[in-house]
Amino acid sequence: MASTKQQENSKKRCLNCAKPLLPEFRPFCSPRCSQLDLSKWLNEDYRLPVVEVDDLDEEEFGDEEY
Ligand SMILES: [Zn+2]
Repeated sequence: MASTKQQENSKKRCLNCAKPLLPEFRPFCSPRCSQLDLSKWLNEDYRLPVVEVDDLDEEEFGDEEY
Protein backbone atom coordinates (compact mmCIF):
# COMPACT_ATOMS: atom_id res chain seq x y z
CA MET A 1 0.00 0.00 0.00
CA ALA A 2 2.81 2.36 0.80
CA SER A 3 3.93 4.17 -2.29
CA THR A 4 7.25 5.94 -2.35
CA LYS A 5 7.27 9.40 -3.85
CA GLN A 6 10.47 9.70 -5.76
CA GLN A 7 9.36 12.93 -7.33
CA GLU A 8 9.97 14.74 -4.07
CA ASN A 9 13.62 14.68 -4.96
CA SER A 10 13.09 17.31 -7.60
CA LYS A 11 12.03 19.76 -4.91
CA LYS A 12 15.31 19.61 -3.10
CA ARG A 13 18.26 21.71 -4.11
CA CYS A 14 21.97 21.20 -4.04
CA LEU A 15 23.39 22.22 -0.67
CA ASN A 16 26.30 23.90 -2.36
CA CYS A 17 24.96 25.80 -5.36
CA ALA A 18 21.17 25.43 -4.98
CA LYS A 19 20.76 23.78 -8.36
CA PRO A 20 18.36 20.87 -8.78
CA LEU A 21 20.20 17.87 -7.40
CA LEU A 22 20.71 14.47 -8.89
CA PRO A 23 19.67 11.43 -6.86
CA GLU A 24 23.09 9.91 -7.46
CA PHE A 25 24.89 12.79 -5.79
CA ARG A 26 22.42 13.66 -3.09
CA PRO A 27 22.38 16.04 -1.43
CA PHE A 28 24.34 17.68 -4.22
CA CYS A 29 23.86 18.26 -7.92
CA SER A 30 27.21 16.90 -9.01
CA PRO A 31 30.35 15.18 -7.71
CA ARG A 32 32.06 18.53 -7.87
CA CYS A 33 29.70 20.10 -5.38
CA SER A 34 29.89 17.14 -3.05
CA GLN A 35 33.67 17.36 -3.04
CA LEU A 36 33.60 21.09 -2.44
CA ASP A 37 31.45 20.59 0.60
CA LEU A 38 33.66 17.81 1.82
CA SER A 39 36.73 20.00 1.64
CA LYS A 40 34.87 22.61 3.64
CA TRP A 41 34.29 20.12 6.39
CA LEU A 42 37.88 19.01 6.32
CA ASN A 43 39.12 22.57 6.61
CA GLU A 44 36.97 23.23 9.63
CA ASP A 45 38.13 20.02 11.21
CA TYR A 46 41.71 21.11 10.94
CA ARG A 47 40.99 24.20 12.97
CA LEU A 48 39.59 22.28 15.90
CA PRO A 49 42.73 20.66 17.31
CA VAL A 50 44.38 24.06 17.65
CA VAL A 51 43.73 25.02 21.25
CA GLU A 52 45.85 27.11 23.51
CA VAL A 53 46.20 25.31 26.78
CA ASP A 54 49.82 25.90 27.56
CA ASP A 55 49.00 29.33 28.93
CA LEU A 56 47.07 28.00 31.88
CA ASP A 57 49.63 25.37 32.80
CA GLU A 58 52.37 26.06 35.32
CA GLU A 59 51.37 29.68 35.57
CA GLU A 60 49.89 29.26 39.03
CA PHE A 61 52.56 26.86 40.19
CA GLY A 62 55.56 28.95 39.34
CA ASP A 63 59.04 27.70 40.06
CA GLU A 64 59.29 29.03 43.59
CA GLU A 65 59.28 26.53 46.39
CA TYR A 66 57.03 27.38 49.23
ZN1 LIG B 1 25.64 21.94 -6.85
